[in-house]
Amino acid sequence: MAERAAAPEGPLTGDLPEVLAERLAAMGEPPYRARQLFRAFHAEGRLDPQSITTLPAALRERLAQEAPPATTLKEAQEAADGTTKLLLGLADGRAVESVLIPENDRVTVCVSTQVGCPIRCIFCASGVRGLLRNLTPAEIVEPLIHARARLGKRPTHIVLMGMGEPLLNLDAVVQAIRIWTHPDGMGMSPRRITVSTALTPQRIDALAAADLGVNLAVSLHAPDDVTRAELVPGSPVGRVKALVEAAARFATTTRRDATVEYVLIDKLNDQPAHAEALADVLEGLPIHVNLIPFNPVSHRPDLAPPSGLAATGFARRLAERNVSVTLRTQRGEDIAAACGQLALERALGEDD
Ligand code: SF4
Repeated sequence: MAERAAAPEGPLTGDLPEVLAERLAAMGEPPYRARQLFRAFHAEGRLDPQSITTLPAALRERLAQEAPPATTLKEAQEAADGTTKLLLGLADGRAVESVLIPENDRVTVCVSTQVGCPIRCIFCASGVRGLLRNLTPAEIVEPLIHARARLGKRPTHIVLMGMGEPLLNLDAVVQAIRIWTHPDGMGMSPRRITVSTALTPQRIDALAAADLGVNLAVSLHAPDDVTRAELVPGSPVGRVKALVEAAARFATTTRRDATVEYVLIDKLNDQPAHAEALADVLEGLPIHVNLIPFNPVSHRPDLAPPSGLAATGFARRLAERNVSVTLRTQRGEDIAAACGQLALERALGEDD
């Protein structure tokens, strides 16, 4: 009896075409099958091998058995404003989130890069349990396939701002970006991908050196080192000035956008003095500021969103100091759209 070809060992969605071809060759499949499969996953948004009818039935059956997807859609919650949160189950029983954010003619998908997060921002549910593990490239990539299936069309933008610190899982993040931007797959422009970080200037320089063509968002949330140590306790201390200088270097050397993300929390960082201090740090640098009113989280009932007056006043003060600024509206308030909140609630529910 002929010996059966080797099994592919795990999901195939996190592989670039060349590696996919090698793994399929080990199964006795010709190279063109890799192109078919890569296209089906990433251009057509088919995650279930049984749905890829361009493949022979026997191969579909084998892939469904031996290389199932890395993620399964456990739950989807849609808010009144169209924001949709997906809870994705992983093979080890853990879960991560992805959020779909429609806005006019664009749909942004917010993607996670780790289970949990070591940065532990006080306003974020993802950091409550610290870091549990890095996600694999397949686990980072697949939310886009789920999103596409749900939307019935290709998302227009990707932000790596979900659970986790992307630059602590850089190899997997780089692979995911290469898959999303591959012309035989989704063909997403890197200009439409933004990587966020709360880490160090050195990590930002390393991202610039990787020459991916993506945009950068620095999770700053405070105008000075003392306030930042309180709000972002897992980030290296004493870094506000060095971080914004690294962001400015990123913008200059890569010619891509660099933004500062600043979650406004009542009293803690939304006062006029905070706005003036932030303007002092950013004045003259090629950095845009996104102000995001805090979205309440169940584990911190003591934190409140800024008043409307405080938020608009903060934005006005920055603009008066010639700092480019956008005041974002709260999204998905009715579905716990704050980062990591649904996964935390489900995880705590399972622990009970
Ligand atoms: S906001 Fe981002 S960096 Fe901060 S704890 Fe949450 S996932 Fe981590």
